[in-house]
Amino acid sequence: MALSRATRIIRRQPLAADLLSPIRVPSNTSSSRAGILSGSLPPSGRQSLPPARYISTGASLPNHVPSFRAISTTPCHHFPSAEKMAEEEEEEEDEKERREMLPGLGMTKPGEKPRVVVLGSGWAACRFLKDLDTETYDAVCVSPRNHMVFTPLLASTCVGTLEFRSVAEPVSRIQPALSSSPNSYFFLASCTGIDTRRHEVYCEAAPNSGLPSEPYRFKVAYDKLVIAAGADPLTFNVKGVKPHAFFLREVGHAQEIRKKLLLNLMLSENPGLSEAEKKRLLHCVVVGGGPTGVEFSGELSDFIMRDVRRRHSHVKDYVRVTLIEANEILSSFDVRLRQYANNHLTKCGVRLVRGVVKEVQPRKIVLNDGSEVPYGLLVWSTGVGPSEFVRSLDLPRSAGGRIGVDEWLRVPSVEDVFALGDCAGFLEQTGRQVLPALAQVAEREGKYLAVLFSKIAKQNGGRASATGEVALGEPFVYKHRGSMASVGRYKALVDLRRSKDAKGLSLAGFVSWLIWRSAYLTRVVSWRNRFYVVVNWATTLVFGRDNSRIGGCS
Ligand SMILES: Cc1cc2nc3c(=O)[nH]c(=O)nc-3n(C[C@H](O)[C@H](O)[C@H](O)COP(=O)(O)OP(=O)(O)OC[C@H]3O[C@@H](n4cnc5c(N)ncnc54)[C@H](O)[C@@H]3O)c2cc1C
Repeated sequence: MALSRATRIIRRQPLAADLLSPIRVPSNTSSSRAGILSGSLPPSGRQSLPPARYISTGASLPNHVPSFRAISTTPCHHFPSAEKMAEEEEEEEDEKERREMLPGLGMTKPGEKPRVVVLGSGWAACRFLKDLDTETYDAVCVSPRNHMVFTPLLASTCVGTLEFRSVAEPVSRIQPALSSSPNSYFFLASCTGIDTRRHEVYCEAAPNSGLPSEPYRFKVAYDKLVIAAGADPLTFNVKGVKPHAFFLREVGHAQEIRKKLLLNLMLSENPGLSEAEKKRLLHCVVVGGGPTGVEFSGELSDFIMRDVRRRHSHVKDYVRVTLIEANEILSSFDVRLRQYANNHLTKCGVRLVRGVVKEVQPRKIVLNDGSEVPYGLLVWSTGVGPSEFVRSLDLPRSAGGRIGVDEWLRVPSVEDVFALGDCAGFLEQTGRQVLPALAQVAEREGKYLAVLFSKIAKQNGGRASATGEVALGEPFVYKHRGSMASVGRYKALVDLRRSKDAKGLSLAGFVSWLIWRSAYLTRVVSWRNRFYVVVNWATTLVFGRDNSRIGGCS
């Protein structure tokens, strides 16, 4: 009876289109046991208990069954009245009817390949799609962007060391079947809800797309669902961050940052500006001393020392970079490397401030100690947390609110659903820690899952609810290969320790920078982009960075 919050989102919206596409509801016939693809869904669907082994190992009822938790802990005045229940029932019926009417792809028929629906086009999704056996499965990818972002080099695009296209890899190049195979597709849309009982996802096309209805909604039925929808930047509810700060996660963000940086440089040369105003305009503040914040600060200082000094000599002395961090910068790196980064950034003119941001105003930041920091450009990079979409799903939860998965990246208690990358984390009951939000984690999970899907298909488990006695083999194991971060001016840090407390090689300086560049160059997904990156690096080295401000800087 209970509807998930995600499905309720759909209920409130008007009907998208009048195309009819009957959807076959799959039968739920499989059994479950440890090491076996499981998750048979009792009739009560979402309110079902997770597979037995979670209950037996977990002692207490798992905290990832929201409806159970709510009932066991909620005071009686929270129980819905009969009137409200009737209203809900009615709404549920309406919702069912609306869903029936949505256009989309229905359940696969006998003789067709099973369909894998992948939500997202980031590191996890793209690695999975790249390795997926498209002879066995049809793939449908749903994502609001049609490319993967090579995030480790994204900071370099903000100042023009690299061009934007060098870090964006079209999904259809990663998995050509999406554009060439008759039943495989890429849909430019966001998923807004999932009905795990009906094996359907509900999607909304990009706004203002000129489609017959606004917003344009459709549904896609799946045999297997892979959720790889990433995470959102954390703001810790600090007032003013969202309207005034820039994030750095997408190519669009990098474009905005570059545009703003160049705009401020240009504007600061206008006559009549006070000294204080010039200083403010050209004060770049980065909040968050993790690898992204540090790399961006390094790139900025490089840009200032090499390019701004030469091409904006009137205002060169006003340009400053401040990095604000509540604790230590690069806290996951070896202590010697941290010290090196501190010294190097300071030498390059980056002011390191230890502080906690209390509020962001349009032109200044207020810190907890009451001090104020005027800024012209503010980049916010304080880590990531579950996105609104991920939070809206009625699925098990790991620590930190990610989608809870078992050792095989399955979402227990629902059938045929897998989650990976930044949006997923091991459930407490697995006894494993939630893995860090890293590309190397996401990529290896994607690779693992593609192999797992081949195993499942070989045992005829590819179809919805056909997973009965499939042996899954080895669970996913993550081994950290180390971390790298560039700090600007041809210097980088390479920390090859397996974990924070382990011993291992760590080095900093020019050789590390060469290692950093070569390692990431080999990781760039396609030869085309590898070529672009090399050409961009060479062009920057010889001619300096491009500081033309053309339209949207694209
Ligand atoms: C600037 C920067 C530098 C980084 N550098 C490194 C590094 O050097 N090394 C490293 O290991 N890690 C690095 N990371 C972290 C790494 O990029 C992430 O951990 C990785 O991208 C996670 O992959 P993912 O597939 O889970 O999510 P993402 O790559 O973020 O992809 C999520 C995808 O889901 C899509 N999506 C979102 N909502 C929906 C929805 N409702 N429906 C459908 N699709 C949706 C998004 O459009 C996107 O395509 C960096 C991150 C950033 C931002």
